Order: sequence, then C-alpha cells, then structure tokens
Amino acid sequence: MEYLTDALKIKSFDKRIPFDVSFELTHRCNQACIICCRPPSDTYELNTDEVKYVLNKLARYQCLFITFTGGEIFMRNDILDLIDFATDLGFALTLKTNGTLLDDSTIEHIKKCRVMEVHISLLGGRQETHDALTGMKGSFDAVKRVALAMRRKDVEVVIMSPITRGVVEEIESIRTTARQWGVEHIIFSAIIFPSMPADRSIDLYRLTDDELVRFYSTLRRLFGSVDETDIRSFNEKTDVRLLSCTAIQNGFTITPDGTVIPCTSVPIKLGNIIDDEMETILFSEKADGIIDKLQLSATPVCASCIDRIGCLRCPGLAFMENSTFGTVPFEACRHTRAFKAALYTAQ
Ligand code: SF4
Ligand code: SF4
Repeated sequence: MEYLTDALKIKSFDKRIPFDVSFELTHRCNQACIICCRPPSDTYELNTDEVKYVLNKLARYQCLFITFTGGEIFMRNDILDLIDFATDLGFALTLKTNGTLLDDSTIEHIKKCRVMEVHISLLGGRQETHDALTGMKGSFDAVKRVALAMRRKDVEVVIMSPITRGVVEEIESIRTTARQWGVEHIIFSAIIFPSMPADRSIDLYRLTDDELVRFYSTLRRLFGSVDETDIRSFNEKTDVRLLSCTAIQNGFTITPDGTVIPCTSVPIKLGNIIDDEMETILFSEKADGIIDKLQLSATPVCASCIDRIGCLRCPGLAFMENSTFGTVPFEACRHTRAFKAALYTAQ
C-alpha cells in the first residue's frame, strides 16, 4: 500500500493534486488533552451543506484519501451524514477520534460505510494515566469499549499513542492492552508539536533525553524496528522528492471554517476552500514560496547534516519551534541523537 501511495504521490507532484487531505471538521472537544495541538475552541464551522460542497470539490480534483479530524469529530451532530457522503463519493476515509462519544449504533454505521480506518488515541497503558492526560475520568474505559466493539465488527482500528514524560514505562502495557482489544496496529510517537509557533509550554511534557533513548530502545525490543541500514537503503531507493516535505504538492489541511493551510503543522493561510478556486489556492505565489521553503535544500544545516538520513527533519516542526522556515527543528535533532544512542546501547 505504501509503495502504491508513494507512486501516486510522485505522479501528482507537478499537478499539485490534493491527493491526501486532512479535514478538521471542528475544534470543539469534550476532552482537554494536555498535549493537544488543536486546543478546544468554538471557531466557526462549515455547515453540513458547505462540508458536502467541499467534499464534492475535492472529488473533482481527484482527492483520494481524506481524514476527518478535529477537535473531536463526533461532537458534530451531522457527522454520520458526512461520513456517508464522503464514503459514497468513494474517498478512502480515515476517522480520528478520542473514542468517547461512539455508541453501538454509531459503530454499526461506521462498519456499514466501509470507513478505511478509525484512529483512536490512547495516552497510557493504565486507566489512571490515560484519564489524567485526557482530563476526563472514564475516557480509558470508553476507548476500551469502543475498540472492542469495533474489532468485533471487523472495523480497522489503529491505536495512536503519543508518549509523554513519565509514560515510557507503559509502552509495553499499551501494546498488550491494544492486543487484548484485538488491535494489532499501534503507532507510537514521542514527537510533540507546539500548538502555536514558539510555544514552549509543551517542553514540560516532552520526554527527557534519557526517556527518549528508552523510548527508542523499547520500540526496537518490542517491534524489532528499523536500524540505520534499513533507513539508508529505504532513502536510497526512494524518489528524492519524497524525502522533502510534500505539503501543498500532494495535499493540505482544511480547518473548520474552510481555511486551507499546507499542513496541520504549518498554520499559514493559503486561501479558503469555499471562496477560492483550487488553482488559486495551490498555484499562488504564496504557495510556490512555501513549497520552496519546505524543501530539504532550504535548510542548509539539515541538507549537509550527516544524520539527515533517518531524521524527521520536518519543516513544520522547525516553523512551530522557531517561528520561521529554513531553521533546524532542534527537537528532531534530539530524537535523532536518542535513536542512534538506542542503536548503540542495543549492540
Ligand atoms: S534536524 Fe538536526 S539531525 Fe536532523 S538533519 Fe537537521 S540538523 Fe541533522
Ligand atoms: S510540515 Fe512536517 S508534518 Fe507537515 S507535511 Fe511537512 S513533513 Fe509532514
């Protein structure tokens, strides 16, 4: 699937086909996760007809993958109607949810609509940890109920597990718990993005240097994850254009009021999906300028770094860390150092 996706991405580069779109349907949420990159707000939301208009527009421009995300998408009363509409148009639809608002009939509906994947957040392997980090008592039990119910109906569930300070020792129990719920696909991540440029408040929740090494060591032990040779050979075989950020060239993010931004991590307004023509949004001087800044070559320190192979090097992270492009995302450097340290300690 990944190779097919990469091939399609490469084909769509020059035409800037919005092949993969993330659609933030709301910024409202019933939880208050401490590391949320979209803190809850009552920002204006496109109404049902406007969202359907956008979906029709994306279909005309050959979009294939859509992710409905938030906030919490099940805060919207029309969410099932929108899921129906998107899947009827033939999109490969992913839903991102905290899992607390889904009842049995909603799960049955998701099953019938043939949603591609449902991503559910799990912030710890213990009820106390997850509930504390979501700010909602009972949220762990809700995730458990929903994951079990979905797997019983054979809905494809992915557990998304951001690991924060003090939670590294729970990675193994997160995996065990997910498996007990019938979920094999778990994505662990320890990269925490600021919710606004230069916001340092999330440093409190990021793993310490020691924890970060333990994070990568644990993943290697549990999953036999990739080593440097695998990464080098992957990079050598991969089209060089896929090694830079592909935002705008392959897709973008739409915020609840229809604003188009390059990616969730690059909150720069390119236009509005309701008011503006797609060509105006994607081929503007502003879009051209941002694409240039997203290329690896725009950050000379990274382009010449011996560790650039295998490093996240996300220009959006650099922008959120330093308020400007062309700078080094130092949090990515820290991850790369920890990843390498984990390799050496494992030998
Ligand atoms: S982010 Fe840091 S480690 Fe990664 S390529 Fe740039 S300078 Fe190198
Ligand atoms: S800015 Fe970072 S997260 Fe966003 S598309 Fe580019 S590489 Fe991915």
